[in-house]
Amino acid sequence: MPSSTSFDPEMLPDLLPVYYKRLFPYNQYYRWLSYGNVPKTYFPHREFCFTLADDIYVRYQSFRDQEEMEKEIKKHCPHKIDIGAVYSFRPKEHRTVSVFTPLEKELVFDIDMTDYDEVRTCCSGADICHKCWKFMTVAVKILDAALREDFGYQHLLWVYSGRRGVHCWVSDASARALSQPQRSAVAEYLQLIRGGDSQSKKVNITQKVHPSIKRAEGIAKKYFEGLILEDQDLLGTPDQWAKVLALIPEQSLRESLEKVMSQCSNSHQRWNTIQSEISKAINKSDFKKGIKPNLVTEIILQLVYPRLDIHVTKGLNHLLKSPFCIHPKTGRVCVCFDPRKADAFDPMAVPNLSQLVEEINQFDAGKTDEERAVAEYKKTSMKEAVVVFESFLAGLSKENASRRQESSDMKKDF
Ligand SMILES: [Zn+2]
Repeated sequence: MPSSTSFDPEMLPDLLPVYYKRLFPYNQYYRWLSYGNVPKTYFPHREFCFTLADDIYVRYQSFRDQEEMEKEIKKHCPHKIDIGAVYSFRPKEHRTVSVFTPLEKELVFDIDMTDYDEVRTCCSGADICHKCWKFMTVAVKILDAALREDFGYQHLLWVYSGRRGVHCWVSDASARALSQPQRSAVAEYLQLIRGGDSQSKKVNITQKVHPSIKRAEGIAKKYFEGLILEDQDLLGTPDQWAKVLALIPEQSLRESLEKVMSQCSNSHQRWNTIQSEISKAINKSDFKKGIKPNLVTEIILQLVYPRLDIHVTKGLNHLLKSPFCIHPKTGRVCVCFDPRKADAFDPMAVPNLSQLVEEINQFDAGKTDEERAVAEYKKTSMKEAVVVFESFLAGLSKENASRRQESSDMKKDF
């Protein structure tokens, strides 16, 4: 399969109709967002927002069923689709009702590579490469483990945002029902890195290390050497190691480390020296009062722990870019991926619109009508993402079935 077919955003108006006609997985998408139609208003009360050409936002779109959604998407060919909350009334009618409030939404997470600029040396801003993408891999592993093990969530849909980040849609019924304060509490619990650009030390573990932080540290350590010391080479130059040493609050220790850094030959040696000097200092009785016992953990986590945009998580009516829409700048599909295979996920290999059309043409070339009669996505490199989506839906359908049962039992009792 070609992976380098270039995409020109000018082509968007020509390619989007093809994508929405032949490739967008309407059926699976509807199955996801209707949640077994318990209650029946769940899908029709959901807000969608279309971004049309020239950044025209059309908020409060809603659809009765799959058929209407499919018709409207094909008609408008949105450059971007965002998903909002499930409201007390159909969002289309929001102007005509007196109480229009968001009731439910998936618990969502947004991690963006631009928040990693202070810890990456290879790229900055909107750029990404294979080296810095590893930060996303670690973030997915740490967050996925925390959501499953600390909160017991099972139905997590991980999605590549199409350019430089990832989203997670926690779709368990209990997560969707969380109130705004509850969402804030979950977000705060998972946020370890705090403070803006002016604050250098952003991770502070004051008490006994929480098991969730221990688990995160274990995952972070597996990647630390390759990512921080080799790929990013964060202790490679005086400017860079000064930034890492700035995370040590004790002046005398920091200054003595600054002096020995230039004697070490590479980032590995410098990191070993930093670790051993910190543990020596912790063990020295005269230092004990001043030095934080978790200082090494704090440094590791500040460099690799997920940098969450928690406003997105906290807001019940916050919009988030939909899975399987197209990133308007890169033309890439916002594909879902298996978090267990996050290490193998390559954002640069995610197909763009031009490539998808080419793949369909290549598949169809020289085949009979009968041979061509397979779902169009199966002819393309989007196939794997749809398989991941379907396996997520299979898990969800069990939860939907038991909720349907409960709902019919309640009706009988009534
Ligand atoms: Zn990079």
